[in-house]
Amino acid sequence: DLFHSVVIVGGGAGGIAVAASLKARKPDLDIAVIDPADIHYYQPGWTMVGGGVFAPAGTARTMASLIPKGVHWIKAAVAAFEPERKTVILEGCRTVRYDRLVVAPGLKLDWAGIEGLAETLGRNGVTSNYRYDLAPYTWDLVRNLRSGRAVFTQPPMPIKCAGAPQKAMYLSADHWLRQGRLKDIAVELYNAGPVLFGVKEYVPALMEYVRRYEAGLHFQHTLVRIDGPAKRAWFSRKSEDGGSETVERAFDMIHVVPPQRAPDFIHASPLADGAGWVEVDSASLRHVRLPGIYALGDACNTPNAKTAAAARKQAPVVAHNLLVDMGHLRGPEVSYDGYGSCPLTVERGKILLAEFGYGGKLMPSFPAWLIDGTKPSHMAWLLKERMLPPIYWKAMLKGREWLAKPQAVDKAA
Ligand code: FAD
Repeated sequence: DLFHSVVIVGGGAGGIAVAASLKARKPDLDIAVIDPADIHYYQPGWTMVGGGVFAPAGTARTMASLIPKGVHWIKAAVAAFEPERKTVILEGCRTVRYDRLVVAPGLKLDWAGIEGLAETLGRNGVTSNYRYDLAPYTWDLVRNLRSGRAVFTQPPMPIKCAGAPQKAMYLSADHWLRQGRLKDIAVELYNAGPVLFGVKEYVPALMEYVRRYEAGLHFQHTLVRIDGPAKRAWFSRKSEDGGSETVERAFDMIHVVPPQRAPDFIHASPLADGAGWVEVDSASLRHVRLPGIYALGDACNTPNAKTAAAARKQAPVVAHNLLVDMGHLRGPEVSYDGYGSCPLTVERGKILLAEFGYGGKLMPSFPAWLIDGTKPSHMAWLLKERMLPPIYWKAMLKGREWLAKPQAVDKAA
């Protein structure tokens, strides 16, 4: 029976960042991170891998190299929670007790949720930037396609990095345009949702690119089945009268973004809300019902954009509030404002830097003369290509918070 003062479930973007933030505030705190994975991935880099900009290896590091010094790593998967006994149960039935718990296991990509997908992924022109081993295949397909139809799909929300499905489309179409092939390639986006992007300020600039690439937009279309060898895909489309019909489409290449859900062991746990996500207060990130439990990252039910950028702002909030709660820091509490960011790669060399908080409130990090997020910007591309990876590895995962200082909440206000 193991015990650690603070136990963190998941060593991804949120888990490592919060471990580092806790250590930065209280170096002698007894912390354990539980994660079965050998490799930690910088997933925001995968769009760039699929666009032929980054080499895949640069987006992966060993977990061992990222666990902060002095933090214990329990290399196992969590299977269940027993909050009343302050215990997590590992696969194989070992248990770990804690004083405070932080939950950050990310979300589940439901590849099996689309009939026929799992058996054809990585072959027959079927790819996805949502997997490390497949993002390079996207770039292979893009480079080799001369003519035909290229289909890009987006599942129902919520998903991580909601811009990623269309980022893949723009970077691919831009390559074909520059190669003089776009006139022979039909580009189509099939989106389960009703709009191109959920924050309306960014839509006009995106629509200019849709027109430039002559991309066909199909809303309320959800991918349900795929036949790789036959190169066909089926979508269920909501009709006006509330019913649905099936639409069949042939493709030469298809970039699929899978449906996404809360991990099963979270969904089935007492931590979950009705939809399966960890139920936390959207400002303090503390569990709304269970004392001593915090969560951050994609697994939370907070209505922010599920991004590493959000986890970067959430980690110091969790670290601070948890230490106040333990009596190691003096109050007041700090709160998370819902910040998330989605750098939309609209062409090679230009990005539309969407940054927004709860309620779709725009939250630009830069003055408009430097980067105006509603306009395509080369400066924003340089930020994504050159700055954000080192900010991730060297600042966010090391507890250096110069871009993520949390705000104290004024309870009186
Ligand atoms: P993750 O980083 O996914 O980590 C979860 C960790 O939990 C993993 O290490 C996993 O092994 C572990 N785990 C899972 N189950 C268990 C278990 N049972 N027990 C213990 N550990 C477990 N974000 C941006 O900010 N900008 C972008 O441009 C961007 N682009 C993206 C593009 C793509 C293609 C993808 C896939 C994502 C993108 N994101 C982007 C989103 C970003 O990667 C995620 O939001 C972020 O990684 C979430 O962090 P997390 O810690 O919640 O989950």
